[in-house]
Amino acid sequence: MGLIDYLKKKFSGSEKEESSEPEHKEDAADKSAASEVSRPESEIEDTKAEENKEAYVRGMKKANRGFMFRLKSLANIFHKVNEEYFSDLEEILIESDVGADLTFKIIDQAKKEAKIYKIDDPQEINKLVVEKMFEGYSASGETVSPDIRFTAEGPTVLLIVGVNGGGKTTTIAKLAKRYKDQGKKVLLVAADTFRAGAVEQLGVWAKRIGVSIVAGEDGADPSSLCYDGLTKAKNENFDLVIVDTAGRLQNKANLMAELSKMKRVMGKVITGSPHETFLIIDANTGQNGVEQAKIFKETTPLTGIVITKMDGTSKGGIILSIRDQLGIPVRFIGLGEGMDDLKEFDLDSYLFGLLVGEEE
Ligand code: GDP
Ligand code: MG
Repeated sequence: MGLIDYLKKKFSGSEKEESSEPEHKEDAADKSAASEVSRPESEIEDTKAEENKEAYVRGMKKANRGFMFRLKSLANIFHKVNEEYFSDLEEILIESDVGADLTFKIIDQAKKEAKIYKIDDPQEINKLVVEKMFEGYSASGETVSPDIRFTAEGPTVLLIVGVNGGGKTTTIAKLAKRYKDQGKKVLLVAADTFRAGAVEQLGVWAKRIGVSIVAGEDGADPSSLCYDGLTKAKNENFDLVIVDTAGRLQNKANLMAELSKMKRVMGKVITGSPHETFLIIDANTGQNGVEQAKIFKETTPLTGIVITKMDGTSKGGIILSIRDQLGIPVRFIGLGEGMDDLKEFDLDSYLFGLLVGEEE
């Protein structure tokens, strides 16, 4: 079964009917007893997957149009696939931010298979290319659960890094809300004291969401804020601390020195912290974003990437090139400006958004 057929089947809801069928009698009794208080797990899971998919479809409208629409149009122009077809395909992939290296790899493989299996129907070649695009994904990194991994004891510390304007502060607010809604005690640390107004911006979010914040003046020492924040978190039994930082990429040496000092201080207050470090990348920055990620990766070990503003780009391929070139898992994806528009990254939903979208 082809990838697109698989995705359509997966999200068609046919699974739902099967899985809500009770397997055992006792099970059915259990379920009916529990049904007044809560719905069966499987049904909740299905609803969640469906909502998730819908958010991706909504948020990736532009990306879907930018990629699949162009693939389909190309197939309509050509009757038979030739060199020119492949070169147009190559252009579409590169312009969708799949990245040059990965694009050449995909086109090469597609060409080879087309030759071996004597395929010259444009529709079939498109299918082949789409398959190749995603075959590499699972091969180029481990699959991890997107959710933050909480420590067994004491506060879990999440450090947020990324260039200015990428969406750090907004993503922190979204994450804070997500975990507060899950019943966690969340503390924010406003350690981006470099950018004017950043401390205040985080303060406004903290108030709106109803979480605590440790903040100093603009220009205050980020490391001492980390010290204060993590000490408070330890003494007052917070579950999660999220630390905002400044993204001064233009001065790599400074950035590196500042981040390592902050991390040293964190590790002293809470052993093993920061437990997670997420890099925020704006989907609109394309290959530039991938280059930024390489610099940050050299500076500090990253446990995950958050792609923001996916809703604003017609180039949906950045996730593939990040995976191909960095091998760091994408943990969350920003599909809009609303507080609930940050979703766990789910490959199938992403592929559905990019490749299927709102079917005509
Ligand atoms: P920072 O400088 O990295 O802290 O970036 P901010 O959090 O201040 O975000 C910069 C802008 O990006 C703000 O206007 C946000 O509303 C916007 N933004 C962040 N994430 C998303 C997203 O997923 N979708 C859209 N459309 N806008 C976003
Ligand atoms: Mg900010």
